[in-house]
Amino acid sequence: MLTVDELKELKDIVGEEWVKDDLPTRDAYSIYYNSSSLNKEDKLWTARPAAVIMPKTPQEISQLTKFCNRKDFMLKPFSTGWITSSAPGSRKTILLDLKRMDKIIDIDVKNQIAVVEPYVRAIDLQSELWKHGLNVHAVSCGGNHSILASTAAAWGYGITGASMGYQARNMLGVEWVMPSGEILTLGSPGDGAEWFSTDGPGPGVRGLIRGFQGTFGGLGTFTKVGVKLYRWDSDPEYEVHGGSPKYVLNRDNVSQQRADNRCRL
Ligand SMILES: Cc1cc2nc3c(=O)[nH]c(=O)nc-3n(C[C@H](O)[C@H](O)[C@H](O)COP(=O)(O)OP(=O)(O)OC[C@H]3O[C@@H](n4cnc5c(N)ncnc54)[C@H](O)[C@@H]3O)c2cc1C
Repeated sequence: MLTVDELKELKDIVGEEWVKDDLPTRDAYSIYYNSSSLNKEDKLWTARPAAVIMPKTPQEISQLTKFCNRKDFMLKPFSTGWITSSAPGSRKTILLDLKRMDKIIDIDVKNQIAVVEPYVRAIDLQSELWKHGLNVHAVSCGGNHSILASTAAAWGYGITGASMGYQARNMLGVEWVMPSGEILTLGSPGDGAEWFSTDGPGPGVRGLIRGFQGTFGGLGTFTKVGVKLYRWDSDPEYEVHGGSPKYVLNRDNVSQQRADNRCRL
């Protein structure tokens, strides 16, 4: 539990509305809804977080990180919370829900680069990109996941990898609130250039912040990422049938478009 003074300090950082320490909210953020554990009653819940905070800027996250260091709280950031590794590991955890950071900052069509905030889902970016004849590697958990999380923080592989690679290799620069609370931009954008590389100048630390699997929120918070884009040679829209949870693309339409595109090539 947070003390009255701690709560006030947090509200001063992000605004009263964006600090939640009421029981229903904390319970809602501790249900363990992964498909593999939903039917096992003893595995349905994780620890209840001390609070859930929804910051808007890297500067706010920097202050929150410094608060947690001072007060000995664990800080656990997540982007969409689609996967349960974003759940709190202990009651002395403050969860950072980054859903207010949802901007596509830039789509550089010519150089095939997008820069996004944490709560830009694959489907949000892809819908914009198709209009420009571009595409992004959406990992196989589906369109709801965060492009930033799959690129900078967690896993990053899926069936479109055959043509669009593996997400850690698609990362082109990252803005990072480090565990100390300092804000660092890695790669070319950190040197005032465009978002075209995560490495350099000097030794690259891509391996340290990302590695093969990612750091799963255990090494600070990533607040912007540049991601490499690929060509999309099909049409920008498809006919969609069905409804949640099963949407189906009109196959005739898709095959016809593929055939048309082959003719164009
Ligand atoms: C049913 C299912 C299928 C899946 N299949 C695949 C698959 O085929 N391939 C694959 O690669 N992944 C898969 N995943 C895992 C995961 O959902 C994806 O890797 C996804 O890209 C991560 O995005 P997310 O929105 O789920 O992240 P979140 O749930 O928001 O977070 C995932 C992890 O990254 C950390 N994190 C998130 N945002 C940040 C941030 N801004 N800064 C620092 N750390 C952060 C979190 O703490 C957490 O540990 C699957 C998940 C589910 C539930």
